[in-house]
Amino acid sequence: MTYQTTDQQAVSSAQPARRITRQARIAWGGHVVTVGGGAPVRIQSMTNTDTVDAVGTAIQVKELALAGSELVRITVNTPEAAMAVPYIREQLDRMGMHVPLVGDFHFNGHTLLTEYPACAQALSKYRINPGNVGKGEKRDRQFGLMVEAAARWGKSVRIGVNWGSLDQELLAELMDENSRRSSPWDAKQVMYEALISSAIDSAERAEAIGLPGEQIILSCKVSGVQDLIAVYRELANRCTYALHLGLTEAGMGTKGTVASTAALSVLLQEGIGDTIRVSLTPQPGESRTQEVVVASEILQALELRRFVPSVTACPGCGRTTSTTFQELAKDIDDFLRARMPEWKKSFPGVESLKVAVMGCIVNGPGESKHADIGISLPGTGEAPAAPVYIDGAKHSTLRGENIVPQFRSLVEQYIEQRYGKGKGT
Ligand code: SF4
Repeated sequence: MTYQTTDQQAVSSAQPARRITRQARIAWGGHVVTVGGGAPVRIQSMTNTDTVDAVGTAIQVKELALAGSELVRITVNTPEAAMAVPYIREQLDRMGMHVPLVGDFHFNGHTLLTEYPACAQALSKYRINPGNVGKGEKRDRQFGLMVEAAARWGKSVRIGVNWGSLDQELLAELMDENSRRSSPWDAKQVMYEALISSAIDSAERAEAIGLPGEQIILSCKVSGVQDLIAVYRELANRCTYALHLGLTEAGMGTKGTVASTAALSVLLQEGIGDTIRVSLTPQPGESRTQEVVVASEILQALELRRFVPSVTACPGCGRTTSTTFQELAKDIDDFLRARMPEWKKSFPGVESLKVAVMGCIVNGPGESKHADIGISLPGTGEAPAAPVYIDGAKHSTLRGENIVPQFRSLVEQYIEQRYGKGKGT
């Protein structure tokens, strides 16, 4: 879309152009998730259950997958955890959940993947942290064993560098090299270089061992927003591997959500990133699925993907002294999300629906007309009536105690008519 401003400069809408990377196929059974190569940006998440608790872990994987996680990572840190992995896979398959499982390995991954072939086989992807595969001579051999397991079982790997566990030998080498420069870089630049080199060198070593480049995904996670942006811009310049994005240790609640959104949005807008994870620390009592909700909202806000109908709601002001419209907006949002798993099957395209819930006559009718279906609630002092607009025209006026269920039912009818089998009839 292009339009003219008053000074006649053309302004274009800014749809992000994707950077095309090599495409990985991450599969379980007949279910394949493509990553990179122009595929939609995928959402990942990670469980926080003890993997040895196979039932508890399978239940949480199912919750994350139902919330929209397309790949779910689980910790594989002990022989008992490795033995539990095939049972977790089996439970998920029995529940009809074919979401691919990713094994998170550190320190002993080479032993677990070699000694527990059923675990290696049940996982669809392995995460290898080059900073945590061993030191000195052992490092190359242990890294090699993990890559060989991936090649043998036809699995993809994510080479996931994290600055909390950066390869210290490589960092020391780069610092020495830097001290010999006529104009040494600052310490941060050396750190960036260490992260990027560790990821790319490890990927090249994996290819030399026999793992195709299409089966390799890279990540370089840091906890600072500007650091993440700087590192990924450079990483994207220097390789064509698919990239996984995430701000590590983002934190809790609003801080974690905002920091992750700020960092990921800048990179995604530049076309960088093939999978994302929002690493939120759940607040006490909060569901683990919140990280998936935030990740999907980021992609939806950037118009990279659509997952659920969007609800436009005004913030409220002195014209709304009751909480009715806030309650209605939340009620409608919760209702749409809760019905989506079923609607996705019955009403293809329903995720593009736009609903407006507005607080008073100032912007209510106008915003409601822009939505597919919208309601303008009465502000303080306005007549106790709520006009409903459908496809830009006034449809009806709701009154009385049951405005919420009446509006929900109008939304449901609209969805059935527009997206159901007899659409438009
Ligand atoms: S639509 Fe009305 S209630 Fe909502 S923010 Fe605007 S003026 Fe306030």
